[in-house]
Amino acid sequence: MQKTIISVKNLVKNYGNFEAVKDISFDVYEGEIFGLLGPNGAGKSTTLEIIETLRSKSGGEIIVDGLDIDKQPDEIKKIIGVQLQTSGFYPGLTLTELISLFSGLYNKKVDAMELLKKVNLDDKAKNKSKELSGGQRQRFSIATTLINNPKIIFLDEPTTGLDPQARRNLWELIREIRNNGTTVIITTHYMDEAEQLCDRIAIMDKGTIIRLDSPDKMIDELVATGFERPKQVKAASLEDVFIHLTGDKMRDE
Ligand code: ADP
Repeated sequence: MQKTIISVKNLVKNYGNFEAVKDISFDVYEGEIFGLLGPNGAGKSTTLEIIETLRSKSGGEIIVDGLDIDKQPDEIKKIIGVQLQTSGFYPGLTLTELISLFSGLYNKKVDAMELLKKVNLDDKAKNKSKELSGGQRQRFSIATTLINNPKIIFLDEPTTGLDPQARRNLWELIREIRNNGTTVIITTHYMDEAEQLCDRIAIMDKGTIIRLDSPDKMIDELVATGFERPKQVKAASLEDVFIHLTGDKMRDE
């Protein structure tokens, strides 16, 4: 029996007359990687920002690790990690300086080297953030979610714009974080990523959740309806070719 760490019941969010989130309910289990997928405008960010206590809701109930979002938002803030916008990484500060700045915001003392080690950036501790590659920047951004040693982290399209090697490297990092006991909620537009990474996914469209299950189950169910891909699938993909030719080693180490 899985333990529920986030429970969302009948969540509604209206912007004026527009219903962005229409009475959705779902649970996230402790220790899983939970994907929230859907086309742009589906209501994903709105839903996540409400759970992150950054936006108000119009209706419904949300419990995060036993804490009621209406009564204990500050307690919830203490146990979640939200990715900071990379635009907040002052380009002239070193990674160590940025961590001490961010940990000050959380009122936490943090061992910067230990944190950087977790995301394999300890050798960049004295580098300025402007000197990081795209993949390193994303890894650093994931490190910032771990500053307060959270039970749950929220990752918003963490691999957008990365090369295939850096994406795989980030998947490994996200799995490691989950394996260390942190629940991960992730949004992505890459379906291969969701299939590889997520234990369960919710697919949102036009403010409602249209399907919630494991990727495997969803695929099996579609196949059971008689669905076939229009083209014979080859035994390898172009991404396999790319990784085969260029190797899976990160280039920006
Ligand atoms: P997603 O993250 O799935 O792309 P959003 O939650 O950002 O979707 O947006 C859902 C819908 O709500 C969109 O139609 C968007 O235009 C609208 N919306 C989002 N934020 C606001 C806002 N602050 N004011 C008015 N409408 C908004």
